[in-house]
Amino acid sequence: MIKYRLICKDCETIFDSWFSSSKEYERLKKKNFVNCHICNSLSVEKTLMSPNVFMSKNVPKINSQIKKYTKTKKVILDYQQFIKKNFDYVGENFAYEARSLHYKNKKASKGIYGTTTKEDLKELKEEGIEAETMPWIKDNTN
Ligand SMILES: [Zn+2]
Repeated sequence: MIKYRLICKDCETIFDSWFSSSKEYERLKKKNFVNCHICNSLSVEKTLMSPNVFMSKNVPKINSQIKKYTKTKKVILDYQQFIKKNFDYVGENFAYEARSLHYKNKKASKGIYGTTTKEDLKELKEEGIEAETMPWIKDNTN
């Protein structure tokens, strides 16, 4: 079994779905059997399996911009470029780096981005560390 994080391009809902294999996913996708759980749209795409997150002093501002601009895939890709340019990539160490930024009060000029698990994200939130998830599309998908 393989879990894919899917995003609906119409209502922007992100949800997880299980498939027996990646081939099975491709097969169902071709037959238009992969649809949004919320609005039934077929404009559903795979995202990375872990939520992509970022944090910076300007998170609320940036987040509202992302929400405004993630209507289309092209804009998401543009925004990924923005994040890549302006944020330091910390990969799967996101939770660790976020805590380090938060507790040491590091004066980071840049924010950070990476991936983390839903559990870590929940813990960060409970510790008062603001991190935001965003849709993320692999560069090599078309
Ligand atoms: Zn939808």
